[in-house]
Amino acid sequence: MEPCTHPRVGFQPTRGLFVFLIALLFIPVSCQRQRTGVSSGPDLTQRTYYEIFVQSFADSDGDGIGDIQGLTNKLEGIRDMGIGGIWLMPVHPSPSYHKYDVTDYYGIHPDYGTMEDFREMLEEAHSRGIAVIIDLVVNHTSDRHPWFTEAARGADNPYRDHYVWTEDTNLITREPEHWHTVPGDTSGLKYYGFFWHGMPDLNFSHPGVREEIKKIGRFWLEDVGVDGFRLDAAHYLFPEDDKEKNHAWWREFREAMDGTGRRYFMVGEVWGSRNIIAPYLSKGLHACFNFDLGFRIIHILQHGKDTDLASWLAGTREVYSQADNGYADAIFLTNHDQERIMSRLDGNLQKARVAASLLLTLPGIPFIYYGEELGMRGKKPDEQIREPYLWGDNDPAQTSWEEAVYSTPATVAPLVLQEKDEASLYYHYQKLIHLRNEYPEFNSGTFTPIESGDQRLIAFSRSHEGHRVLVLHNVSQEPVIPVSELAQMTSGKVIFCDPPDSRDQIRDGVIQPLTSAVLRITY
Ligand code: CA
Repeated sequence: MEPCTHPRVGFQPTRGLFVFLIALLFIPVSCQRQRTGVSSGPDLTQRTYYEIFVQSFADSDGDGIGDIQGLTNKLEGIRDMGIGGIWLMPVHPSPSYHKYDVTDYYGIHPDYGTMEDFREMLEEAHSRGIAVIIDLVVNHTSDRHPWFTEAARGADNPYRDHYVWTEDTNLITREPEHWHTVPGDTSGLKYYGFFWHGMPDLNFSHPGVREEIKKIGRFWLEDVGVDGFRLDAAHYLFPEDDKEKNHAWWREFREAMDGTGRRYFMVGEVWGSRNIIAPYLSKGLHACFNFDLGFRIIHILQHGKDTDLASWLAGTREVYSQADNGYADAIFLTNHDQERIMSRLDGNLQKARVAASLLLTLPGIPFIYYGEELGMRGKKPDEQIREPYLWGDNDPAQTSWEEAVYSTPATVAPLVLQEKDEASLYYHYQKLIHLRNEYPEFNSGTFTPIESGDQRLIAFSRSHEGHRVLVLHNVSQEPVIPVSELAQMTSGKVIFCDPPDSRDQIRDGVIQPLTSAVLRITY
């Protein structure tokens, strides 16, 4: 359990009381306000993170748009959930609702508040032991960023080389969707914008651009005091056939950020297989998101059949460790770019509970997308997977900047109801995160797949300093009787079981349908 955390969920009253008393001893030291950074508490890679779209999260001024002050007001609840870090989707000024096209890397979007609000939020988060990492979007800027409006003026502009230009028709014909014309320009010259004409790609071959990005990174780490970055589109800075340059750039950025002497954490968005991801972890990014893991978990629950998840993950971790011993793996179910998991699972609550149990018992840094813990639903387009968080009708923090299609009080019970209900998905998430914080086997332990001999059962163990947890997930709709070898191992103490009423059957050697259990053994 983290210092400064007072869980509302107690599994074992005696232990809970003991931990609470120990925590009290630490409060004067670990809860004192830190001006910059979470200098105490667990390593930044040994926490559970919560991804927040500020716009949809919590409003403080009644305009229906989520803002930084609104987030500050909700930090207490985030802490109570057991969360040790938050990832804020972009907070910089931008012309779009999603803000992945930045016009000023040193500011806060006026809808979200001021830099003063941001600094206050940071201080309040740190005082609760919550780290804050921000989305840093540097593959491209907005086409309204002053660098680009300057660059678009002509070939002799000093900002011209900040972007990528060509009039080579061969290049343009090969990727016509990525080359765009400045409005009114009839010269035939085009600029590169991989995602969209409104997001011109920066030219990382230009040393001046690389220096600007390092300066931005230092500003947020040193002057503002954030705890790190989520690096958007980390795989796309250089073209597909020039990937080594991407790896080299992130090593260069890492070295520059290490130079600040700050404790910080960087996680990159690299959609790709483990072999694509591994080189990014070698002295570059601390972690990358494990997209494949989320896809696999969803597939397994959709079909009720394991696809050797545990041994696949062990293999992935082996590949990463060969690239860099100090690697971290950022695990998640879905994020702001993907259909929400509750929609992928057709609203099947018990499958969503097993997905959460899997995520929060596996090794890695779990990231939970806001609203996932409520069972919020959502399908493309993107706006509809980023719908307002459901606090409950009477909470003034409720945002309303867009009309929700998938997650409304009619389809999803809001937080105000779920936090009082021990049977709720929210309560389940909270219980799991506290379990993860309480037993170091989860955040720091080794990971060993166990051959269950049954495609319906995922089994693995996690060990740390004389303790081992045995984790079992029945992903099918049928009861499973584990093979005798595994049954013998179930002699440990059941520290977690979901649904809770299937606990007795585990003692009898039966794992009920869509049931997760954790047994703890001391050796
Ligand atoms: Ca607002």
